[in-house]
Amino acid sequence: MDDFASESDLAACRIPPSGLCWWCGAVAGTREHKFKLSDLKRLSVDSSEPLIWGDGETQANVRSLRKSDKVKFSANLCANCNNSRSQKFDFAYEKFSDYVWQRQKSLWRARYIDMHQIYGANWGDEVLNLARYIVKHAGCRIANDGFPVPPAFSDFLNGANFLNNFHVCAFKNPLVYRAQRQISGVKCDPFGVWIGPMTGRVNRHKKTLAGFDSTLSIGFIGFAYRWYADVPDTDPFYLYRKARIHRLDRIPDF
Ligand SMILES: [Zn+2]
Repeated sequence: MDDFASESDLAACRIPPSGLCWWCGAVAGTREHKFKLSDLKRLSVDSSEPLIWGDGETQANVRSLRKSDKVKFSANLCANCNNSRSQKFDFAYEKFSDYVWQRQKSLWRARYIDMHQIYGANWGDEVLNLARYIVKHAGCRIANDGFPVPPAFSDFLNGANFLNNFHVCAFKNPLVYRAQRQISGVKCDPFGVWIGPMTGRVNRHKKTLAGFDSTLSIGFIGFAYRWYADVPDTDPFYLYRKARIHRLDRIPDF
């Protein structure tokens, strides 16, 4: 039976770290950034203060944008996968991020993000690369949290054009938007980059993870993703030129 999982349910599904790259199976020696290094640099530019990391309960200074444990996942990719094999994904994400940083205010009222405006005529390939960035991020997070990464993730990163069971859509977060408006004018950057909590589902009979969901975002604009073992059909943003922006509290079920 699948159900939302408690910490003890999740603990029963955890596996010890394999030391191998979850994408290709080689020895894993590199750590993916939880937050893109280029976004962290943007947040810290023009400031002599350290970047602050927080999880809602604790806060800490980020001493190194490149190496801090606060901004990186555990070592679960090999260098080849984390660098050259995924470079196209990183570039697609960085273009998306540039667009959001430049346009954020106007995106609150927008109903769609037009991928042609970001990527031009090649938007169809680039939006898939953006989706692969998100899937790579999600895979690193799952492995970091101690669970096996669904094998189809690797097929999608290898070039498949669709990832069954993985739903992903663009959202805007009203809480972050309101917070930004309240503190704009104060001399600090209210923008921030975020990853949401992970919610898990387990199959208690098989003691396996049956689902998980989370988010990643730049300010109030981001992507919500969800993998459910028993829901193969999804309607992800990367099938469309115009990605619908849902309110985070009103994302439809599929
Ligand atoms: Zn690899």
